[in-house]
Amino acid sequence: MPDFRIAVFEGDGIGREIMAPTLRLLDGMARQSQTWRMSFDMLPGGAQCYSETGEALPAASVETARRADAILLAAMGLPDVRYPDGTEITPQIDLRKILGLYAGVRPVRVTPGLPTPLAAARDLDFVLIRESTEGLFASVGEVEADEARETLKITRAVTEKVSRFAFDLARQRKADGRGPGRVTCVDKANVFPAFAFFRSVFDDVAREYPDIEATHAYVDATALWMVTQPGRFDVMVTENMFGDILSDLGAGLMGGLGFAPSADIGDDHAVFQPCHGTAPDIAGRGIANPFAMILSAAMMLDWLGETHGHSPLRADGARLRQAVERVIAEGRVRTADMGGTATTDEAAAAVAEALG
Ligand code: ATP
Repeated sequence: MPDFRIAVFEGDGIGREIMAPTLRLLDGMARQSQTWRMSFDMLPGGAQCYSETGEALPAASVETARRADAILLAAMGLPDVRYPDGTEITPQIDLRKILGLYAGVRPVRVTPGLPTPLAAARDLDFVLIRESTEGLFASVGEVEADEARETLKITRAVTEKVSRFAFDLARQRKADGRGPGRVTCVDKANVFPAFAFFRSVFDDVAREYPDIEATHAYVDATALWMVTQPGRFDVMVTENMFGDILSDLGAGLMGGLGFAPSADIGDDHAVFQPCHGTAPDIAGRGIANPFAMILSAAMMLDWLGETHGHSPLRADGARLRQAVERVIAEGRVRTADMGGTATTDEAAAAVAEALG
């Protein structure tokens, strides 16, 4: 029976509060399962780690993460802890580069009970793929007295990989009956040569997938259509910075950051973490919404099942996601961001109960 080793970064702020109940859920599922086991390596990393040790992402943590079957990360960074140049501590971004996690997977699903601001958003289901290792985030920035510059980097190799990832996902979703088989390249090819290049590489890859429709949209129009016609999207692929912004818009469509899971996937490694940050304004009170973290763990089970050809594990990923959806649909247990009074642990306990 496979025993999956998971590298765990609790990080900062609400990180510990949402990770602990998520690990309890995973541990309970592993113990119940007849076909898989799971063990966890708790690793230091983040802003608090930096202020205590001078290292935001210790080399030993990276090595353990590299050897793990998957990485589960809550959130990292604190507004008051910064590098000498004034930037925030963001080891989660470093990890994407170190491990080559080029495909940032941001599902946008509206299921019953979610506090979506869109009246006509029932059954919304699309996936935004954010390239996560280059784009504007590859920039090292130059600041002079009266001028600052950042550089955007797009490479053929990474654009091909992330485009293929998007087309493979669209094919999988079509096979599962979840989408029409369409990939939209989101760019600003009308203004910037770098985005025209991104689009041309995307178009080259599209020719390998005659069964999948390839379309294009400018990023500004995409922001509008995500609100006015979200149903036109199935899988979208875009540059890092555009993806960063649009994925928060996607979380907004779902009703808030507390419901938005994500995965950052490369050829050999994957990190699963909620879209939200460390929420310092509510940290330490035990009231954070754990659903995005638990849904990220469900994505991890699904990915492990897929990559290891282990269908019961995939089924358990779906079971965990459906348990969260049932709790949200019932509306009995609601955390503060949902207008309720449930604590983090009470919300997670409701998921455990829904799992049976
Ligand atoms: P980052 O830059 O790291 O993404 P941020 O400062 O933009 O982080 P978050 O830390 O995600 O933002 O917090 C944004 C807002 O959303 C805050 O008001 C926070 O309390 C709220 N929030 C984020 N995550 C949760 C959660 N799990 N439960 C409840 N509220 C949350």
